Amino acid sequence: MTDQEGGEEYLFKIVIIGDSAVGKSNLLSRYARNEFNQNSKATIGVEFQTQCLEIDGKEVKAQLWDTAGQERFRAVTSAYYRGAFGALLVYDISRRSTFQSVSRWLGELSRSVKGDGCFPGAELITNIARFSIIKPFIAMHNSHSDTTVARMLVGNKCDLEGIREVSVEEGKSLAEAEGLFFIETSALDSTNVETAFEIVIREIYNNVS
Ligand code: GDP
Ligand code: MG
Repeated sequence: MTDQEGGEEYLFKIVIIGDSAVGKSNLLSRYARNEFNQNSKATIGVEFQTQCLEIDGKEVKAQLWDTAGQERFRAVTSAYYRGAFGALLVYDISRRSTFQSVSRWLGELSRSVKGDGCFPGAELITNIARFSIIKPFIAMHNSHSDTTVARMLVGNKCDLEGIREVSVEEGKSLAEAEGLFFIETSALDSTNVETAFEIVIREIYNNVS
């Protein structure tokens, strides 16, 4: 890790969660490699991908974690969530059951991230803001202040308008009620995929910088 022209660097862990087959792996492959896979095969092997972007002239690395198929067995481990600064909670707009699961995923996320004896969220965010920036490299692993700074509700497969089961309004109001960002995406035709990830990454950056 080199310190080029005194630039600061950030590393944020972001997790992607949601029911099986909502398109989590394809959102990640679309964003990270501009690839889409029609075959619904369980994610194999890869645990995370790292994407770099520049914000305010600083190098920001997002470590994007995919569940690698664990969600099929409702066996997403707490290690998966640990240290996450951001989360994309994905459902499929053409399958209502996946939307109904969002609250369960939210619960799992907050339980796993917070653990026992944690502070209320507002206090935690203040603590994170006080993290000093250590040059040249700062790994924001969030092990001291366990909270997820940015959570985005993602209604994926918005290309399937003809068989939509969850309206945009329903997505919006759930997001509002839970204090989440909201966006509809299509990993198939690329709609809003980059935007979804970048909003989360920028929100984390704004909270910690
Ligand atoms: P995961 O289990 O949540 O990781 O879901 P996958 O990424 O494996 O996708 C499950 C299935 O949905 C695959 O057949 C994908 O091709 C398909 N899929 C994923 N995203 C989209 C999308 O935006 N639109 C459509 N029409 N299909 C999608
Ligand atoms: Mg997958």
